[in-house]
Amino acid sequence: MISFQNVTKKFSSNILALEDINLDINKGEFVFLVGPSGAGKSTLLRLLAREYLPTSGKILIDNIDVTKLKPQDLPNYRKKIGFVFQDFKLLDDRTVFENVSLALQVRQLPDLEIEKEVERTLKLFEIWNRRNLFPRQLSGGEAQRTAIARAIIGKPEVLLADEPTGDLDPQTAWSVLSLLGEINSWGTTIIMATHNKEIVDVQKRRVISIKDGKITKDKSEGKYEFH
Ligand code: ADP
Repeated sequence: MISFQNVTKKFSSNILALEDINLDINKGEFVFLVGPSGAGKSTLLRLLAREYLPTSGKILIDNIDVTKLKPQDLPNYRKKIGFVFQDFKLLDDRTVFENVSLALQVRQLPDLEIEKEVERTLKLFEIWNRRNLFPRQLSGGEAQRTAIARAIIGKPEVLLADEPTGDLDPQTAWSVLSLLGEINSWGTTIIMATHNKEIVDVQKRRVISIKDGKITKDKSEGKYEFH
């Protein structure tokens, strides 16, 4: 479903973020991306979200070459993709309910439909009783559950997560991971960049290791290792 074919990304003549990446990820997989800081993990996720174009190579999703999309195709393409970050990136001046409903408002759905869907999702993620709070009033776990709700409410095919547990204590990190596992069980493909060795080692999922812009390991039931 997702295919990187000889993908290279240079940010300048001397910054080679990814070099000749070849990678296939099937629909419904849950994949960890591991590697030291600066290895190229975020760049790989951002190429998939089409925030960047590769310097060379092809990126296919459902046989669409992402690198060939025209500006007018991007909004539709991005509906396939949800993105979650370490620092949540919630809008500070909007409540939990508003942050999540904005993701559906851009799709111009009827208000009643949006409200129902947001209520259903916030209840499922156990943040319904936080719906009128602003991001600064939330715990880290509640903020991340809100950010994940916002990312998945439009039913993307792929959820990209860049260090989603990076700022959370171990117990909260585990609760976020179990939420991601549940989302994956609905059929959503998940690609998660992480430094959380404990989580990666216990989960027994596919682990792709990246170092200096290259894939150094790719194992099913892999461990947190990149040498
Ligand atoms: P990771 O997510 O594994 O920490 P990144 O993908 O963020 O690594 O970075 C890979 C390399 O690309 C690093 O050398 C980083 O400094 C560089 N890089 C990432 N984004 C940019 C950018 N927007 N402009 C210039 N260099 C960048």
